[in-house]
Amino acid sequence: MQIIENHVLSSYTTMGIGGNARKYIEAASVEELVEALKIAKEEALPVFVLGEGSNVLIDSKGFMGCVIRPMMRQVDWQPQSDGSTLVTVGAGVRFDDIVAESCRRNLGGIEALSGIPGSAGGSLVQNIGAYGQEISEVFVSAEAVDIHDGESIRLMPANLEFAYRHTALKTADNPFVITSLTLRLVPFDADKAAARCAAHGFKKMALTKPQSASALRSIVLETRRSKAMCYDRDDVNTHSVGSFFVNPVVPGEDAQRINAASIIKNHKPMPSFPAEGGKTKLSAAWLIEQAGFNKGYSLRGAALSDYHCLAIINRLNATSDDVIALAQDIVTRVYLQFRVELQPEVVYLSPNGIAPLPCSAKEAEVYGAPLRPNPLFL
Ligand SMILES: Cc1cc2nc3c(=O)[nH]c(=O)nc-3n(C[C@H](O)[C@H](O)[C@H](O)COP(=O)(O)OP(=O)(O)OC[C@H]3O[C@@H](n4cnc5c(N)ncnc54)[C@H](O)[C@@H]3O)c2cc1C
Repeated sequence: MQIIENHVLSSYTTMGIGGNARKYIEAASVEELVEALKIAKEEALPVFVLGEGSNVLIDSKGFMGCVIRPMMRQVDWQPQSDGSTLVTVGAGVRFDDIVAESCRRNLGGIEALSGIPGSAGGSLVQNIGAYGQEISEVFVSAEAVDIHDGESIRLMPANLEFAYRHTALKTADNPFVITSLTLRLVPFDADKAAARCAAHGFKKMALTKPQSASALRSIVLETRRSKAMCYDRDDVNTHSVGSFFVNPVVPGEDAQRINAASIIKNHKPMPSFPAEGGKTKLSAAWLIEQAGFNKGYSLRGAALSDYHCLAIINRLNATSDDVIALAQDIVTRVYLQFRVELQPEVVYLSPNGIAPLPCSAKEAEVYGAPLRPNPLFL
């Protein structure tokens, strides 16, 4: 078990941002994890569980607690008599390695999640999704350890309360560390996959109708790379957390109002998708662009990616404050333009623990002038 005092965290995140943790522990087994939790408890340190750091903004001032990284790396593939396969994966496994292997076996269920960075544990907590597929759809169960008493527990789908890019575990007081998860994958179905892609606006995939999970994976990877959405240590445009904000889900009348304005202004409807309860999911990237931000827009060390308006990147030695300032700028201008409040997808680790990202439309209300609401969109 690796234990380091006052350890810098920036190199463990895809944004490359983060100050020192009071204590940093890597746990390669459930036993080591229980031991790590005991150490944190004895020293009265709050615990933060870190995966591959691809969905966290860690404050540049650091974290006054103990960061624990689950490093369990076992993988077990079990073909079932009904043709499905159960795969059980340690929380520290790179999730995309599992996606790649499932495609090699021509299994369906997670192929559209190709190229998403992160650990298996983090992917579950975040309920990762792309192109109409979510990990929740194949999730069977997870093994976890209670942070407070070190007891093991099995979590079922109902315990996780899956929602769009959210689970019951993505909270400041989440009591569980995931140690492994089991997914059920089924033989790849080309028609089903193409239909799902069509329903989610992934035209290239719907048209080419890939005949194998690997073929679909190749197109997803090519598409993601063209948008700098595959993490690459040498490409600053990927030094993000992917989408910084979630796509907002709004009542139908708000969607109609914004769509009508889009038709007048742009001579075409805005991108949108049906959501639960008769609501509409808008494209956060579209809102950001329409609010006047261009790809590459920068503020201090932070910037929007040159390839995607929804990805905030660490362009040049950015601090967490630089990223938060840019996020506030975006939230403000989108709110003033559309009366829609963007919500962060990223988890913010403050010096005291997970906290709401300090940027909101309330700030926009006071900041008002000189940004004038665009009458076309109101
Ligand atoms: C270039 C890029 C593209 C991306 N594209 C997508 C995308 O298309 N779709 C998508 O959904 N996401 C995307 N993301 C976001 C990110 O990849 C996922 O959210 C990822 O699954 C996070 O996993 P992680 O291990 O890095 O978690 P971390 O960022 O380390 O942690 C995220 C949260 O999970 C918790 N956590 C991590 N591991 C555990 C565990 N074992 N037990 C309990 N809690 C844990 C942490 O405490 C934290 O709250 C992208 C990110 C980048 C950088």
